[in-house]
Amino acid sequence: TVFLEVSDLHVSYGQIAALRGVSLKVMTGETVCVVGPNGAGKSTLMAAIAGGVKAKRGAVTLAGQPILGNKPEEIAGRGMSLVPEGRQIFSSLTVAENLKLGGMLQGDASKARWMMGEMMDLFPILRERASYPAGRLSGGEQQMLAIARAIMTNPEIIMIDEPSLGLAPKIVDQVYEILAEIKARRGVTLLINEQSSARVLKHADRIYVLRGGQVQLCDDAANLQDGV
Ligand code: ADP
Ligand code: ADP
Repeated sequence: TVFLEVSDLHVSYGQIAALRGVSLKVMTGETVCVVGPNGAGKSTLMAAIAGGVKAKRGAVTLAGQPILGNKPEEIAGRGMSLVPEGRQIFSSLTVAENLKLGGMLQGDASKARWMMGEMMDLFPILRERASYPAGRLSGGEQQMLAIARAIMTNPEIIMIDEPSLGLAPKIVDQVYEILAEIKARRGVTLLINEQSSARVLKHADRIYVLRGGQVQLCDDAANLQDGV
């Protein structure tokens, strides 16, 4: 079934048309990657879905319910979690405190404690660094923390904006392997932005190529293995 559906979405910043009629579907449990160069509109797409920027026209539904125009908190409350570009962890708080903040958003303290344990099993480095200030982590560790914190909100769908940005290829592979493990354990649906398809093809089910605020191509990742 379709879990997230974006239809004919238009977003402008003043005179700049960042999204010009974008349509996209993500099925329940799928990993969909939006690939495109800088300025293509990838961040804007996620921000519009999550309620952070206003759309001029179009529709977005989550599990069949229209969400466009809802407040970010309302959309988060329906099971959507966004890991924005630049991770936006609290750098002076410890790793454990950052995770706790994610857990607080879901409201159930005992469940949050249990989830924190699960996250530390999944990301052993976060257990090791639990009492470090998050700002002292490496880029890859910060990315893992940002993803772990997003999962602490117990989302049904996670959107991650350029998880590979600034990371060494080996670390990127680690991040994607952990995402695969999270999917195996929790059956979460993923929407991921990347500038290059090189590292995501083998982890994604389907790819949308976005350029100049429009979808240029959509295909099964398997069909694109040799090209793009
Ligand atoms: P990306 O790396 O995804 O292209 P950008 O570098 O375009 O991201 O944007 C980084 C931040 O700056 C985002 O919060 C974005 O909304 C904002 N931004 C991008 N372009 C502009 C612009 N022309 N004017 C003002 N803010 C911008
Ligand atoms: P991407 O994430 O693919 O790099 P963005 O969504 O960040 O693309 O940007 C799409 C277009 O919108 C770019 O032309 C960018 O400069 C512009 N843009 C993004 N954020 C802002 C903003 N806050 N104000 C003005 N222009 C923006």
